[in-house]
Amino acid sequence: MYSITSTKKLHNGIEMPRFGLGVYKMDDPEEAFNSIKKALDTGYVAVDTAAFYKNEQQVGEALRASNKKREDIFITSKVWNTDQGYDETLRAFEKTLTELNTDYLDLYLTHWPVPEKFAETYRAIERLYDEKLIQATGVSNHEIHHLEKLFASANIKPMVNQVELHPYLSQVELRNYCKENDIVITAWSPLGRGHVLHDETIAEIGSKFGKSIAQTIIRWHLQSDHIVIPKSVTPSRIEENANVFDFELTSEDMATIDTINRNERFGSHPDHFKY
Ligand code: NAD
Repeated sequence: MYSITSTKKLHNGIEMPRFGLGVYKMDDPEEAFNSIKKALDTGYVAVDTAAFYKNEQQVGEALRASNKKREDIFITSKVWNTDQGYDETLRAFEKTLTELNTDYLDLYLTHWPVPEKFAETYRAIERLYDEKLIQATGVSNHEIHHLEKLFASANIKPMVNQVELHPYLSQVELRNYCKENDIVITAWSPLGRGHVLHDETIAEIGSKFGKSIAQTIIRWHLQSDHIVIPKSVTPSRIEENANVFDFELTSEDMATIDTINRNERFGSHPDHFKY
């Protein structure tokens, strides 16, 4: 049985919260600040941001406005595609720290595997790790072939791969590969950006526990051993999404949700992204 502060140990020993707030498309600074502050007040201990989201500043401000200590909140950010390459990544990271007004990150990711650049980008992330400016290294949107290429040049395997993952896109092969390589999976768009929130099979399972479809999906992620970072700017939903630690799906429920995969993406495929 997990709690809102439960963690998963990364392969370097760092404990990463299993549950956090995603902040993509929180474009309005006031809305971003209020949503992140609301999540921290609700007990969230992790925030997933990125330079591309243009709200790192609000993450830092909300953290300082809450009564939480920096070390109690796990902050992930990502280097955007146009900033990739070795020197560029080091510069982008400095800007990210300035925006957040902090002196370290818990986790820094290559946002997308920009062809010809992602291995160099990761080499810079390794340097930040060696310099103890980040607690853990990671990547996002890396397919198996990207990871294989990285392994050829990397000194340390990424600890995390953040990929699109929800009941309509279960990513079994990539998940298995990451598991074999001690890479923890974070599920982005864990609710399928809202597209999975009308699923009748999941509704039926959730209703047995008095839980919403969103809560049932978040619970499926937790019990599948994924880190899960649902996004909402609605205060009641920020609370609802965190209210998933008082019930447990049965193995039969889990197996049923596992079967509704459609290999359906709501974001870009990493191999077809317009870099
Ligand atoms: P999501 O799957 O978390 O869905 C968010 C949407 O679902 C919200 O906008 C809201 O409309 C709806 N929603 C949320 N909670 C709800 C509830 N309880 N009831 C009803 N509707 C609800 O989508 P997302 O924002 O795309 O993904 C989550 C996070 O993943 C992002 O904020 C970001 O941090 C990360 N992400 C990363 C990448 C990447 O390339 N690494 C890409 C996309 C998202």
